[in-house]
Amino acid sequence: MNKHTSEITPDEKADLLDQAAQLAKTWAALGAECDAENRFPTETVEPYKHSAVTAMAVPKRYGGLGADIQTAAQVARVLAKGDPAIALAYNMHQAMVGIFRNTPALDEDVRGSIMTAVARDRKILCGPFSEARAGLSGLADTIAVPDGDGWRITGKKNWSTLVLGSDLIALNATITDPDGSVPDDFREHAKREAVFIIPTDSPNVSVDHTWDTMGMRATGSHTLVLDGTPVTRQMHGGNFRQGLIGEAEWAAMGFSGVYLGLADKAYEEAREILRVKHLGATMGGQDTDIKQVGYVQHALGRMRTQIEIAGRVLDATGQIAIDGGYEEWEAAERKPRWDTVKVATTEAAMSVTDEAFRLVGGSSFRRGHVLERLYRDARAGYLHSFTTNQLYDYFGRYELGLLG
Ligand SMILES: Cc1cc2nc3c(=O)[nH]c(=O)nc-3n(C[C@H](O)[C@H](O)[C@H](O)COP(=O)(O)OP(=O)(O)OC[C@H]3O[C@@H](n4cnc5c(N)ncnc54)[C@H](O)[C@@H]3O)c2cc1C
Repeated sequence: MNKHTSEITPDEKADLLDQAAQLAKTWAALGAECDAENRFPTETVEPYKHSAVTAMAVPKRYGGLGADIQTAAQVARVLAKGDPAIALAYNMHQAMVGIFRNTPALDEDVRGSIMTAVARDRKILCGPFSEARAGLSGLADTIAVPDGDGWRITGKKNWSTLVLGSDLIALNATITDPDGSVPDDFREHAKREAVFIIPTDSPNVSVDHTWDTMGMRATGSHTLVLDGTPVTRQMHGGNFRQGLIGEAEWAAMGFSGVYLGLADKAYEEAREILRVKHLGATMGGQDTDIKQVGYVQHALGRMRTQIEIAGRVLDATGQIAIDGGYEEWEAAERKPRWDTVKVATTEAAMSVTDEAFRLVGGSSFRRGHVLERLYRDARAGYLHSFTTNQLYDYFGRYELGLLG
């Protein structure tokens, strides 16, 4: 037994994947419109809440399915084949559920109340942690100033994916001195950086509609604004860096499922076009059938191979979790070792969409073409924490004995 031991039965898993495929079908019909309108589809919230997917990773003792991380990533892949941006939005909920179900930073009663809220009351969580100044790397500029038995939170989170579909917001804020000052020393600052879980309809919470990006437009990752929001001790979820980041695999595996589903979708769309596309009469002959062009065959095979490799990394990483193999990893190298799966899958998505664009040609450069959208969406994969460069840098420093 370890924290990733699965509780879901084969029948429950089959039903879960079936329900995910049903959701994906409805998301596929919305994807182009939401991208064009830069809109998070709030109409997907109720169907999602009432599907088995919402509480799949909640342990059975709290009323969920107790799905393991490998199953959760498979579900994310199925959902993203419908629409990757909508899937990325809901992936934030799954990442938070996975992290909170295991993190030792939470008191058991806080954990119980979050898990029950998801499984019984079908509450949706989002997790805006990044600061405008420096993403997830930057220690929280958002502050929690002591006030009576609790705190008042003030700050802005400019990557608030799924906030428009959420009931609960998990965020980090630096607990200040009573006069509102933040410690000068960065180590002390990190010690004071705490997690809070607050209702979305708390007083003095608003959303500034700032999300207008190149890709992943349906995620609705707007700016959350807190202006002296009152929070109680029951909303305190422990230290941020030592707590949530210790469960980084839930983010890494979820992102990976989404970006691999994106790659699957791009691959299948490109393959179907290439199967039927003719160039007609050219100087080479009466009719040039694109699938007879040698490099097209070669490149399509290469795309398929990249997806196969990334898919195996995803499955194997899930299996490492289930088997407890990660317990042999040094604490200091766990995050990059988990995040390796994010690199494999997001690089595959970027490469497959790039190749699809080259093979299909000019039509995929036009706005409204599905490959044009998937190409843009895939580019966001690089940014998720650890950014890929950050991971290489961290591993390099670790291997040179500069960390740990
Ligand atoms: C579609 C989408 C949705 C997102 N949703 C959320 C969300 O819901 N919640 C959330 O918290 N975040 C979210 N993020 C934010 C994501 O976590 C940030 O993009 C990420 O933290 C990187 O931040 P940044 O792009 O602002 O870059 P910065 O952190 O400003 O990075 C700038 C440069 O510095 C490098 N760098 C950064 N830190 C280090 C370091 N410690 N060591 C070495 N190099 C470093 C980076 O690689 C990059 O080259 C989302 C991102 C995307 C793309």
